[in-house]
Amino acid sequence: MPQADWQRTVWCGEVSEEMAGRNVTINGWVQRVRDHGSLVFVDVRDRTGVVQVTCDAARAPEAFAQARELRSEYVVSVRGTVRRRAPDAVNPKMKTGAVEIEPSRVLVLSAAKTPPFYIEENVDADELVRLRYRYLDLRRPDMQRNLVLRHRFVKAVRDWFDAHGFYEIETPMLTRSTPEGARDFLVPSRLQPGSFYALPQSPQLFKQLLMVAGLERYVQIVRCFRDEDLRADRQPEFTQIDVEMSFVTAEDVMTQIEDMIATALRAVGKDVTTPFPRLDFATAMARYGSDKPDLRFGLPIVDVTGIAAQTEFGVFREAVARGGVVRAIVVPPGAALSRKDLDGLAEEARSRGAKGLAWLAFEADGLRGPVAKFVGGAAAALQERLEAPAGSVAVFVADEEAVAAEALGHLRLVLGRRLNLTKDAGDALLWVTDFPMFEWNAHEGRWEARHHPFTSPVEEDLPLLETDPARVRAQAYDLVWNGVEIGGGSIRIHRRDVQERVFRCLGFTKEEAQAKFGFLLDAFEYGVPPHGGIAFGLDRLVMMVAGAESIREVIAFPKTARGGDPLTGAPAPVDPRQLEELGLRVEAGGPAARAAGRGRNGTA
Ligand code: ASP
Repeated sequence: MPQADWQRTVWCGEVSEEMAGRNVTINGWVQRVRDHGSLVFVDVRDRTGVVQVTCDAARAPEAFAQARELRSEYVVSVRGTVRRRAPDAVNPKMKTGAVEIEPSRVLVLSAAKTPPFYIEENVDADELVRLRYRYLDLRRPDMQRNLVLRHRFVKAVRDWFDAHGFYEIETPMLTRSTPEGARDFLVPSRLQPGSFYALPQSPQLFKQLLMVAGLERYVQIVRCFRDEDLRADRQPEFTQIDVEMSFVTAEDVMTQIEDMIATALRAVGKDVTTPFPRLDFATAMARYGSDKPDLRFGLPIVDVTGIAAQTEFGVFREAVARGGVVRAIVVPPGAALSRKDLDGLAEEARSRGAKGLAWLAFEADGLRGPVAKFVGGAAAALQERLEAPAGSVAVFVADEEAVAAEALGHLRLVLGRRLNLTKDAGDALLWVTDFPMFEWNAHEGRWEARHHPFTSPVEEDLPLLETDPARVRAQAYDLVWNGVEIGGGSIRIHRRDVQERVFRCLGFTKEEAQAKFGFLLDAFEYGVPPHGGIAFGLDRLVMMVAGAESIREVIAFPKTARGGDPLTGAPAPVDPRQLEELGLRVEAGGPAARAAGRGRNGTA
């Protein structure tokens, strides 16, 4: 095809001093126009950057006249000669700041209305407006950088998987309800009125079937859908890096996958060291009060239950007598906690269910604080156990174990922020392993799978399935980065009998299990390799690499917190004829309130 005479010969951001004297054509958007009388400066932007076009009334009257008509965001083609700027006109802040283009022709390809916000870095516009005019928002360099970063990261991920023998295989979007524990998005079937597809919450069962099918190594960068009330960093549709492998142990998955993550991070300029440390769930909860501990800093939680029981402090003694624990965090000297700070920390602890917070200051000449007089002879043992240096302050929670862990885990993060321990602390990636298989849902009075029902229990815990589900450990692992869970997976059950026992534990009758997951159970009768996998939330990963505040900053067309798209107006009512075709009727008074609530579907 012949080149049209307005088409670019060079990108705006790539015009350089070496091109001085050359005739070029640029295409792009008008960033701004500065009219200095007989001189008009036009900055033209494309995705590579900005270059200045300098129009002189005397030297090129026609182009000058054309340039004066330009407005911001007009789409133009400018032909002209590259020249070096006079030394006093060089702009060192601009990549192309040493050059400019003297135009021979300025052509408007498309005019533009005044945009609702400036097309520039760090724009201070309301997010709804940004989303309503997303095509303008995405013109901004920071948004373009994020999308390019996302592309590079995904490319590196795909390259790694390709080099390691994985096949990318698509799985259906219109499918049956899948068991990740959230509410499904449903799609009515026109051809089978009254029946519905569900959009996949993850390709979990399909990727397992691909293992039964002998594909051995599967990956998919895949859109998943979960109809949840959106918390700050969730989207109803999001992207996973979804992986499954055959004939592997948990160890194999972790070793390979950490190489993948480290390689992809390096490809976008983030150097992390492998192997990542491992921490079992019980230790993570005891030491850091979290199953996704932020290990960029220390401040470990220390158990002092035994020593606390020997003090005269009623709160400690009672908690221990009731079977609870006493645990503490030592705040290092120099933190200069005031009474008011300590009251604030107590408030934080209460917000996580603790009844209160006790504190002790370890001074060079003894203990200080309201509890000090009750500690008596236990002071030395306490200080030793806590490894508390002079000048430090220990904060204590005495409560049920789970409450103490949660409250102190929260305080640890609050203190980490307050003491600025995460700043310049580098990156901390780790695996958390050996999760409990089940979680008690007190509300519904039944066990739920903590990961999902296809996760394999640790072999030696199988007998506990019928006797003590609380103690069954799962062959599950999460990858945690700076206190954020970025991925999680497990070795799967590959035996029909074990799968049926787990379903039974979760309260499914044999018939219910067969009705919902019969296709998987049936497949398990035709030769199943031991298999396991993992999935990563891609949006969050890219957000963290980009240093962005929200996943919406790394998604081209995200939804608002209410699941809406201000650009297209989705979701929207549909034509009554469409409903009729589907055999559906919308009841007056809005969505059926009675329909809310998680059924058995959402087991895991
Ligand atoms: N399907 C799981 C999820 O989406 C991940 C996995 O077990 O591979 O969370």
